[in-house]
Amino acid sequence: MSDTCIFCRIVKGSISAHKVYEDDLVLAFLDIHPSAVGHILIVPKVHVARVEDLTEKDSLALFRVLRKLVGDVQRAVESQASTIGINNGPESGQEIPHVHIHIIPRFRNDHGGVIQSVSGKGYRYRDMEMHEIAEKIKKSAGLNRRCGSDLAPSCFS
Ligand code: 5GP
Ligand code: ZN
Repeated sequence: MSDTCIFCRIVKGSISAHKVYEDDLVLAFLDIHPSAVGHILIVPKVHVARVEDLTEKDSLALFRVLRKLVGDVQRAVESQASTIGINNGPESGQEIPHVHIHIIPRFRNDHGGVIQSVSGKGYRYRDMEMHEIAEKIKKSAGLNRRCGSDLAPSCFS
């Protein structure tokens, strides 16, 4: 819990929010500056800035709530789809350093963009680079203290 974090203060109740779901580990509420009607944020109750620092327990709890609420929100605002996203770190545009999943309801002909448009002009791999990058990511996983080896199940313990 951080005294200066807006989302911790919403969890604690010292700042009000239009809550739509709460359990022991997770809270969801309407975004105060919505990108669309029904735009909600789902947050862990613990103060963790980035996805990679969540415990497995909190990450599972978040995804469980995401899976439930996405349909609930869409039905409530009669949207046909949703964009689900996490700004993870300041360079991605994360303003509140407390993990939160955005559910943004989407509508036919809403003229919105796709997730793939968020990172500038994209990227084109040169020859063999896809292989190299895949190998680097797997090596990085092996170096992670919390993960044993390639695609390691021990990451999930
Ligand atoms: P970020 O860019 O960090 O992913 O997005 C933070 C989100 O939190 C923004 O969409 C913003 O509108 C929302 N937000 C910021 N302050 C408050 C607040 O006090 N209450 C609520 N309900 N949402 C907030
Ligand atoms: Zn916080």
